Amino acid sequence: MTSAFRMNPDGLQRLLALLQQMDYETIGPTMSGDAITYDRIASISDLPVGWTDEQAPGIYRLVRGDDREYFGYTLPAQSWKRFLYPPFRKLFSIKKNGKSLELDEAESGTAKYAFIGVRACELSAISIQDKVFNLGEYRDDNYLSLRKKIFVVAVNCSHAGDNCFCTSMKTGPGAKHDFDIALTEILKEGDHYFIAEAGTEAGSAIIEMIGPGKATDDEIAAADNVVRETAAHITKSMDTRGLPELLADNLEHSQWEDVAKRCLTCGNCTMVCPTCFCSTVEDATDLSGQVAERFRRWDSCFTMDFAKVSGGNFRISPKSRYRQWLTHKLSSWVDQFGVSGCVGCGRCIAWCPVGIDLTAEVKAIRGTSVKQEKEV
Ligand code: SF4
Ligand code: SF4
Repeated sequence: MTSAFRMNPDGLQRLLALLQQMDYETIGPTMSGDAITYDRIASISDLPVGWTDEQAPGIYRLVRGDDREYFGYTLPAQSWKRFLYPPFRKLFSIKKNGKSLELDEAESGTAKYAFIGVRACELSAISIQDKVFNLGEYRDDNYLSLRKKIFVVAVNCSHAGDNCFCTSMKTGPGAKHDFDIALTEILKEGDHYFIAEAGTEAGSAIIEMIGPGKATDDEIAAADNVVRETAAHITKSMDTRGLPELLADNLEHSQWEDVAKRCLTCGNCTMVCPTCFCSTVEDATDLSGQVAERFRRWDSCFTMDFAKVSGGNFRISPKSRYRQWLTHKLSSWVDQFGVSGCVGCGRCIAWCPVGIDLTAEVKAIRGTSVKQEKEV
């Protein structure tokens, strides 16, 4: 750990206020109905104090945790994707002006966000989307403009959810990169504080302005222990050895038929996934025919129209759609972007209405891969 500081909960409030004074829109975890979601927060009282979550395949449930804990949950329902890559966005409008047309392009990335409470796996998801949206000539200027202005306050995980497998994907549970400030929340023997560490000069400057004292060796050890303990409590895993090749070699495995019998092709898994990025465009005209607008909307490889092209639909069966999703995520994504498309957050497992668990699907394929079947 680089220089570490001890910050009491009122220091967290000062951090928020400081970021707001610097014109950041502060976004963080907050209660929304029966779930924790990321949304605008004005003060630390908006955080889900005293709540934690239970997650399992097809299950997400809030339960009371330690009354004082601000970040005692594992992961909110939605990811940061919806701020950097909004689900619905106007791209441009065209207006008739006599015999000519006037083009009005939507402004790119005007918001300046401070993200509070980013988990380690989510830092990896953001860095994956950085690659996706900045690929040669295929750039998303709106994403890039928002992305370069964000201030990131990461919070190391203190609770392992039953769906988490970040240790398999080497993305967590401790933040290692792409943050301005990383916090670890400590609740120990009646004491409640955060260990703060800067990851950038901007983060360092802000910590200095808040003015916390240097952490003692014992406090730093307590923070390291939180991350170590969390890692030790992660029970789900995915064997990633040769995974891209394994899936590419097993495109006709019977497991795809098996999962297709359970999959509703609802697309929830793609909506909650912090790295999925597919979109469609929609055009609309007003009734007078004077104005036309183009919008971009999140889409999913599970929808019926996604693979519809002139001449037909090349992914008509649920089997082909689930296989497309999983093989893209864990196999061809690596060819495309040089990394896996999965960070092990487990959201697709919790929010799948029938509890399909990609780690179990991979295990089933690995256990009876085509190559092994040929050998027996
Ligand atoms: S795997 Fe689950 S969440 Fe994904 S499309 Fe199928 S039923 Fe929906
Ligand atoms: S595929 Fe599932 S576990 Fe992996 S990053 Fe997406 S939502 Fe998380």
